[in-house]
Amino acid sequence: MKFGTISHWKQQLSSGAISPVELVQELASKIEALNPSLNAYISWDKEAALVAAASADISKPLGGIPIAIKDNICVKGQPARCSSRMLEDFVAPYNASSINNLHKNGAITFGNTNMDEFAMGSHGENSAFGATLNPNNPLHVPGGSSSGSAAAVAAGIAIAALGSDTGGSIRQPASHCGIVGIKPTYGRISRYGLVAFASSLDQIGPLSQNVQDAALMLNCLCGYDPKDSTSSKRETPDFSAEIGQSIAGIKIGVPKEYLSSGNDPAVSAALAGSIKALEELGAQIVEISLPRAEAVVSTYYIIACAEASSNLSRFDGIRYGHRTAGNTSLDNLYSRSRSEGFGAEVKRRIILGTYVLSSGFYDAYYTRAQKVRALVAQDFNNAFAQVDYIIGPSSPTAAPRLKDESLSPLQTYLADIYTIPANLAGLPAISIPYPQQSGLPIGIQLQAPHFAETGLLRVASALELALS
Ligand code: GLN
Repeated sequence: MKFGTISHWKQQLSSGAISPVELVQELASKIEALNPSLNAYISWDKEAALVAAASADISKPLGGIPIAIKDNICVKGQPARCSSRMLEDFVAPYNASSINNLHKNGAITFGNTNMDEFAMGSHGENSAFGATLNPNNPLHVPGGSSSGSAAAVAAGIAIAALGSDTGGSIRQPASHCGIVGIKPTYGRISRYGLVAFASSLDQIGPLSQNVQDAALMLNCLCGYDPKDSTSSKRETPDFSAEIGQSIAGIKIGVPKEYLSSGNDPAVSAALAGSIKALEELGAQIVEISLPRAEAVVSTYYIIACAEASSNLSRFDGIRYGHRTAGNTSLDNLYSRSRSEGFGAEVKRRIILGTYVLSSGFYDAYYTRAQKVRALVAQDFNNAFAQVDYIIGPSSPTAAPRLKDESLSPLQTYLADIYTIPANLAGLPAISIPYPQQSGLPIGIQLQAPHFAETGLLRVASALELALS
């Protein structure tokens, strides 16, 4: 079902078995055939990709490789709609720094992938362009918010893709679709040109078919960018340097809070199977505790909504975004433009965020959430004093069914329990698929200390190989 990894196509390109132009053509025909039923892409500009392919330098790390881009990352001359009616007509006037980095490394950016509107959601159903289906079972959601990026890679209509992860939006859809997704350390990849949802949590990262490809993409994406004030000046290592090395003696923590009875039996089984595989590889498994695990969801939803209410205020029909027709007054223009442009979930978040920031409630909610956030980070510091990495599920369940009306927004929020901590603490975390005999994919998550991606990828690839 998959289209072939980056490594595979690099080899095909360098042997001359296929040209970059032919590769784009082949991919485009697959998209044209499969996308109408899947809705993973909301648009793709074949002509622009063919022009880029004609002059692609295949000697570069991603030379001639097409990469799909989430609809909230700016590619000059292409739409960046965040799957929202609000930005229906918006065409990016410049490249995001991550896109410049991909281009510098020879990649061809090709296609805008569907997403939950403004990256708010976990199912890929909050899109003004309709839901994306899970390629493993079209009755289920692909996860979100990077729904289209994950579904496209899993369905074999993308080699790899970019996503963004504020509370799990790379790792959770990767888990639900059966692929690899990594959120790097906060600050590793520039956020310049990523439409902001919650700036202190947002990170761009790759979705790929295997760990090796994730490392390759990170090599090309990371690096200091003066245009992002939170960008890290740390040197970018070779993230694939330790892939294939032994993990004997490495200490891996299992938080007792992650062994919850609320996990699906298949998730518990996948976690147990992964722990066993790591032990067989010589890793030392240590039970640890992350005592604030229960508080992360409410903390995240207060902070993320607060930041969203501020970030999304620019979409007012004047500075940016949809403008209502036939308005009479300025107030009317603002309120009608925003009511028409935003979908229900985005409105819910803006209202929640405005509430927690309002005078009288600010200290009770926002200030307290910031304090809990610091404690969550402290829990990880304590844990990483005992162990090198942490293992757990990526999500408590497999992909829910489409249009499951029995799930309230709150229940959906609670399912982010395992992915949110890494965002609150700014840590790198990866989801890799645990092979299933039948049924929907299940993802296993590994978390690491800040800037420890190289070792994280080493453990992830060792586990990937052991499970394959
Ligand atoms: N599901 C989470 C939310 O709805 C995460 C979103 C994200 O990471 N962009 O906020």
